[in-house]
Amino acid sequence: MDFSEDQIRRYARHILLPEMGGVGQARLLESKALVIGAGGLGSPLIMYLAAAGVGTIGVVDDDQVDLSNLQRQLLHATDRIGMSKVESARLAAAAINPEVRIVGHPARIDASNALDLVSQYDVVADGSDNFPTRFLVNDACRLAGRTLVSAAVLRFDGQLATFKAPGPCYRCLYPAEPPEGEAPTCAEAGVLGAMAGVMGTLQATEVLKELLGIGESLAGSLLIVDGLATGFRKIRLKPDPECALCGPRATIHDLSAHRTLAHAGR
Ligand SMILES: [Zn+2]
Repeated sequence: MDFSEDQIRRYARHILLPEMGGVGQARLLESKALVIGAGGLGSPLIMYLAAAGVGTIGVVDDDQVDLSNLQRQLLHATDRIGMSKVESARLAAAAINPEVRIVGHPARIDASNALDLVSQYDVVADGSDNFPTRFLVNDACRLAGRTLVSAAVLRFDGQLATFKAPGPCYRCLYPAEPPEGEAPTCAEAGVLGAMAGVMGTLQATEVLKELLGIGESLAGSLLIVDGLATGFRKIRLKPDPECALCGPRATIHDLSAHRTLAHAGR
């Protein structure tokens, strides 16, 4: 691939990295990443992936920008309150790097579209804010053979993991959704805005590593970040032989269980 002069200047500090070079940068320009959720985690994710020149960035979000988002969702702005988050993300990414293509999916990801959606991308990053979506995205990624980089943040705490076959999946870590009310959301329990930035930025780093195939993949590990103590702990994850999705006696072979669950939840 031949770079233009502007591209060489824009990506100079990437091209300098021996792990990346011009070959790696060209690879990013041809890569496709899907980001689930243009919120607190999605903000640094989308901005760093756009700045890095990831050629196509899909953004799934059916929400509009709200005043209460702006304490942590740096992708959005006060004068864009009421705008769809997907459109706001497109404006923010275009302002950083007009070269990348933002493909907006202003819909809720569900069992009817998840498999098709994740199949269109090389890597998927989940920054969603609820368990049904996390399980659905995990199952769709595993069924479609896509690597999933998953992050979560609450209060001053964060978690980050990469799920890649044949290693453990999200269900190996959490076999079932927690009962309603047992796992509070950021809206219920609060979150330090900068912690969403920390976790989304770490997530962007892992997405870029997966796209480039460099470094040591986080797959098979869970990173636990304690913002109040400034502690980073990495623990080993093992595949769960009883896992309903990736275990030897797997019972999930399509996403039909999610459809039932979505109806049951209403
Ligand atoms: Zn599993």
